[in-house]
Amino acid sequence: MKAQATRRRVIVGHARESVVEIGSDERARVKLRRSSGHPVCGDWVEVSADGEQVVAIAERRNAFPRADRRGRKRIVAANLDRIVVVTAPRPEPTRDLINRYLVAAANVGIPAAVCLNKADLLGPADERHWRALARRYRGLGYPFCRSSTKRSGGLTALRRLLATGTSILVGQSGVGKSSLINRLLPGVELPTRKLSAATGKGRHTTTATTLYRLPGGGEVVDSPGVWEYGIWRMSAAEIARGFVEFAPYLGRCRFADCRHLVEPDCAIEAAARDGSIAGERLDSYRRIVAAIESTAR
Ligand code: GDP
Ligand code: ZN
Repeated sequence: MKAQATRRRVIVGHARESVVEIGSDERARVKLRRSSGHPVCGDWVEVSADGEQVVAIAERRNAFPRADRRGRKRIVAANLDRIVVVTAPRPEPTRDLINRYLVAAANVGIPAAVCLNKADLLGPADERHWRALARRYRGLGYPFCRSSTKRSGGLTALRRLLATGTSILVGQSGVGKSSLINRLLPGVELPTRKLSAATGKGRHTTTATTLYRLPGGGEVVDSPGVWEYGIWRMSAAEIARGFVEFAPYLGRCRFADCRHLVEPDCAIEAAARDGSIAGERLDSYRRIVAAIESTAR
């Protein structure tokens, strides 16, 4: 009988080898062939029958990039089901930050959700603000949950959100992503976190993006520091794609290349004026486009 190649999920992708899952709790290191390409965390790969080599990478459903300070992209994970934008009352997100993350998620073709962490810090004034935001984002189709690493039961809603498929957490530094991962994965030694505890910094430099199985179901990809320092440059059309409620109006403006800023007979502007699109969202879109254009010069 001829031995068959087998399909495995990549836990960590290194330059010369991949760590793949071979059982629910078992891992193996397999070498890469020159022809096999470079598997990343979350890839599905064919491993040779002797278990020694990656033969091929299966076609990716999607690819998740990191961007360096110059905006150059590098794929660090693949086949994700969800990008969870983590935010918190403190550090308070800048005005358009959540929308910027949602735009980036839309452009890599991965569904997004929002998680408000540090819910224990919400004061009465914050409550009103965040309730309105939750309503807005849910209305647009984004799951929205709260979490707290400082309260018992504070992770229930997030666990439920993560219980299916493969997720990655993104968000600005300090919102609590590492704390959440640590709590979600009890007993898992996270090398990066130990380093962080020892030095207080530097955890972004040595880390390999890694996939973990969650005890309650689902998988989470840990890629410390990812999207913390912003995302890559996008065109006005790409930014508009991240404002999902614009979709029915795109292509209906007088000018085919309308950027929905000051152009006459703009369908998006008209939709905002009659209340079909929230004025606040159009304003946010325009600020994001303006900010990108001002850095272009
Ligand atoms: P990261 O930069 O997003 O990975 O954030 P960290 O996990 O390093 O957390 C930043 C700070 O926020 C730390 O001092 C955490 O103890 C704190 N923190 C994390 N989660 C919570 C939370 O749910 N509530 C409160 N009050 N503080 C939190
Ligand atoms: Zn327009």
